[in-house]
Amino acid sequence: MKVRVAINGFGTIGKRVADAVAKQPDLELVGVTKTRPNFEGRRASEKGYRLFVAGEGKPSDFEAVGLRISGTVEELLGQVDVVVDASPDQVGRENRKLYERFGIPAVFQGGEKADVAEASFNALGNYLACRGKRSLRVVSCNTTGLARAASVLLGRWGIDHWEVTLVRRAADPAESKKGPLNGIVPTFQLPSHHGPDVRTIYPDLTIATTAVVVPTTLMHVHVNHVRLRHAPRDAEEVIAAFRASPRFHVFAPWERVEGTPQVMEYARDRGIGFNDMMENVIWHDGLRLDGRDLYFFQAIHQESIVVPENIDAIRAMLDLAPNGPASVAITDRALGLGVP
Ligand code: NAD
Repeated sequence: MKVRVAINGFGTIGKRVADAVAKQPDLELVGVTKTRPNFEGRRASEKGYRLFVAGEGKPSDFEAVGLRISGTVEELLGQVDVVVDASPDQVGRENRKLYERFGIPAVFQGGEKADVAEASFNALGNYLACRGKRSLRVVSCNTTGLARAASVLLGRWGIDHWEVTLVRRAADPAESKKGPLNGIVPTFQLPSHHGPDVRTIYPDLTIATTAVVVPTTLMHVHVNHVRLRHAPRDAEEVIAAFRASPRFHVFAPWERVEGTPQVMEYARDRGIGFNDMMENVIWHDGLRLDGRDLYFFQAIHQESIVVPENIDAIRAMLDLAPNGPASVAITDRALGLGVP
């Protein structure tokens, strides 16, 4: 029997996780919630997803515009085995009370503080440690990208010290009230909160992060300098390790991918749902090795990188796969990742 899943919050992350759940062989999407009608609610309805009303929402507002409502969020929670909370930052913490009342396990997102859940989660990083937990927090897009890279580097060469500058997108494509539109805004928290967040997955990792925000809506870019504990043979060995890892996509020089515009164009060509790029993007030309010093860029599609991790978080909590690689393989096959 499939595990029944609810998605509470159907915005940027929620609508993607809903589609991803619907594609998994062992999961069933029971319904999604909206607080008020909008184009995303319309799309949910067009896709045949059952819509429930969350927060302060009123069913009559939906019915007035012709959107069929199957009940309240409470009614949805009564029909599922697990809930993925994809509501805005800090609303998840409020919703937690509801999930506790229903006694169902919950996955939270990176906009919540770490203590919202029993543990923070990354599929390549700490799947086994998260098995059987009643609540997990999938770390943010930037932290997920860093944790994945750590999983490749730590296991093979060890890390003495890692410094990374995060060049962050200003807003998601659908947002029209955020900026900057013309400017570069340093984050005056030095180092930034991202390093401590990576340590919720890898507690012993020495990592210092800084961040600037730039006027773009698609992708972050990480500028990494890692002092490895042991020197790889050469840069090719590191490239090969990234290529061999799930959830990494390495662009070869001949592909002429100069930056994020071509990465997103590739994603549109590939046409996975929402034209997403759920993998960490590495440029073959954007990686250099000098002894133990590794320099590399990686790009992170903020809207989608956490989507497969949400699926694996469900499997870890409900013990649906024996280990991380097994879950990742099921998830990625269903999503079409790693398939040229
Ligand atoms: P979003 O604003 O696009 O979507 C949130 C949805 O939740 C909206 O549809 C909103 O109407 C709905 N909502 C509001 N109040 C609610 C309530 N009480 N109960 C249920 N739903 C409610 O936000 P998002 O970008 O999808 O972010 C969701 C979470 O994912 C946040 O924690 C965020 O930090 C995290 N996250 C976002 C990104 C990103 O780039 N957008 C990346 C990684 C993680």
